[in-house]
Amino acid sequence: MQFFITKIKDLNVEVYNLNTIVVGSGAAGFNAADRLYNYGQKDIAIVTEGINQGTSRNTGSDKQTYYKLTLAGEENDSVLEMAKTFFAGGSMDGDIALTEAALSAQSFYHLVDIGVPFPHNRFGEYVGYKTDHDPRQRATSAGPLTSKLMTENLEEVVKEKNIKIFDGYQVISVLTDENKEKVIGILALNLNNLEDKNKRYTLFNCKNVIYATGGPAGMYATSVYPDSQTGATGIALEAGAMGKNLTESQYGIASIKFRWNLSGTYQQVLPRYVSTDQSGNDEREFLEKYFEDPGKMLDAIFLKGYQWPFDPKKVHDYASSIIDILVYNETVIKGRRVWLDFMKNPSWSSDEEGNLDFSILGQETYEYLDNSNSLFGMPIERLAKMNQPAIDLYQDNGIDITKEYLEIAVCAQHNNGGLHANLWWESNLKNFFPVGEVNGSHGVYRPGGSALNSGQVGSTRAAQYITANYQGDPLELEEFLDSAKAEIVKKVNLGEKLANNLSDSSNVLEIKTKIGQRMSKIGAHIRSLKSAERGIRDSKNDLDNLFKNSELSSLRELSLAFQNYDMLITQYVYLSAIKDYIEKGGISRGSYLIYDSDGELPIDDLDEKFRFKAGNDQLNNKIQRVFYEGNSCEFNWDQVKEIPQDDNWFENVWNKYMKGKIIK
Ligand SMILES: Cc1cc2nc3c(=O)[nH]c(=O)nc-3n(C[C@H](O)[C@H](O)[C@H](O)COP(=O)(O)OP(=O)(O)OC[C@H]3O[C@@H](n4cnc5c(N)ncnc54)[C@H](O)[C@@H]3O)c2cc1C
Repeated sequence: MQFFITKIKDLNVEVYNLNTIVVGSGAAGFNAADRLYNYGQKDIAIVTEGINQGTSRNTGSDKQTYYKLTLAGEENDSVLEMAKTFFAGGSMDGDIALTEAALSAQSFYHLVDIGVPFPHNRFGEYVGYKTDHDPRQRATSAGPLTSKLMTENLEEVVKEKNIKIFDGYQVISVLTDENKEKVIGILALNLNNLEDKNKRYTLFNCKNVIYATGGPAGMYATSVYPDSQTGATGIALEAGAMGKNLTESQYGIASIKFRWNLSGTYQQVLPRYVSTDQSGNDEREFLEKYFEDPGKMLDAIFLKGYQWPFDPKKVHDYASSIIDILVYNETVIKGRRVWLDFMKNPSWSSDEEGNLDFSILGQETYEYLDNSNSLFGMPIERLAKMNQPAIDLYQDNGIDITKEYLEIAVCAQHNNGGLHANLWWESNLKNFFPVGEVNGSHGVYRPGGSALNSGQVGSTRAAQYITANYQGDPLELEEFLDSAKAEIVKKVNLGEKLANNLSDSSNVLEIKTKIGQRMSKIGAHIRSLKSAERGIRDSKNDLDNLFKNSELSSLRELSLAFQNYDMLITQYVYLSAIKDYIEKGGISRGSYLIYDSDGELPIDDLDEKFRFKAGNDQLNNKIQRVFYEGNSCEFNWDQVKEIPQDDNWFENVWNKYMKGKIIK
């Protein structure tokens, strides 16, 4: 790595020259750096806005899942079978599905070898369980904090190798050559030195960028992503990276004060759902009104436990996702607050003393509670019996659910779509590799746990490709600056205008809230053509006027101003993708509902907004791709690639491998 100082306008700007920059310090970013080093590319560094930020390190769930090839027992499994499972999720290319399956065991064992405590039996078999959209038992878990453990172990091996980490550097631009064909570096705000204008900006002149910036979390107000994750998809789209399947995200019920998925036992103990007005008064058990009988209501709550994401296929006939709709109806349409009460049983199904009538439960619910010796008492007592750590977790985070209600909402959780890349995880922009959640490798549905697998596989593939094909030095400094000058000057000008006009008041947080509320209301699990069109207009208008309208009271807020810029581009493109999808005839699927005047209302009393059509979506064998062009978006729809059937004759593959013809 070489270091220079250059002049941009009247500012000194630090420039680092090196082969590869990895952006992001989540599970995908750390793995990319570790793999590059192991494969022999050591002229590398990690750039992160905050080493402890991001989803991997700061999230979890009841039993946080890692999806892998079957590695235990007698169940038949194969790379091809696993690829078929991914592919069956819809709108996913077969070559990517095959690659994610092929590298599954390698990626998993790497994590095992560096110390992630995935459980195995005494013979060394890594046993599994069945997760959602999983025809086998491929899931495993290292507990509620699997992704945190992965990140910490990966960080440790990266630090042992003395790989340089630029901590506190927020990327504000992905820099390309003049033809926008390849990436040549990045521009970052140095958050550690914002006060010093000669240290405020840093340039990285590099041959390759592995982009592991995570999901576009900051775009939503109602979210179970950790607070510290914002995302940086917008600036990659701005640079010319193609987006893919941007319509596909996952939403579900979570607590909002301490952000945590309310899946598993939290639902299976049958808590009481109540809503109140904004000040906590006027309490109502709002679910009752919509169900035919209390048994059906309890069964729907129970099933939420392992049918966690909202799914329009599970709405009719009082299936589990009707609960998400009713929660949204209370919070967004009626403007009330919704809570889970674990202290009392739902009153509709209880006697005067509050004892639940278990005889009204459906067979599955009854048997589960019976097998768990939990056909007794109040929800909190059942939870203590089945999963005491679930109570302790909230206690540790300042919420005592043995004594207080837990506030909930339907929250954004994961983006299946994202930036496009090929089977080496290289984008349409050469030398640019989106890996982890920012990469849109998945389609409509995906097995639980496959996000973490995908992040490990993608970062490994990118590292393999770079080491095999893109060794060497970056551009000469002068050529780099010449090529990227226009973009660098544009961003520095925007930043300096704000920095030189600090005011007494600030509105950047307010702008962030507005962006988030818009997306949670119209671009999350309840969508319509009309609202998408309105959202596109509003986000474009906000984007065009962002820097004119932003008021900063301190230089620290430069970070948020640039994040707002990124989020508005992201929002504009994501909402445009929703509009395009609906105009192509796309119907409710995955984890969202689309208003359709010819559809059906799941329950008569519900708001017209929830009228929709579900069924087999003819677009499930197509992939929507998008280019952001500043004032508009250009969309293409491609047929999915089938799972390839390559020549796997050993001698032939070996031959090609020895001649270096595989990693091409
Ligand atoms: C509640 C919840 C439960 C989940 N459960 C599961 C599960 O059970 N199984 C599963 O497979 N997946 C699960 N997921 C999804 C999975 O955790 C994430 O997809 C994954 O951790 C993302 O990892 P990543 O490395 O791609 O990104 P992240 O871990 O989000 O890291 C992104 C990094 O990029 C940095 N960054 C972002 N923007 C910039 C910028 N402009 N400049 C510099 N740095 C930047 C961030 O600070 C961070 O370090 C869950 C997600 C949530 C929210």
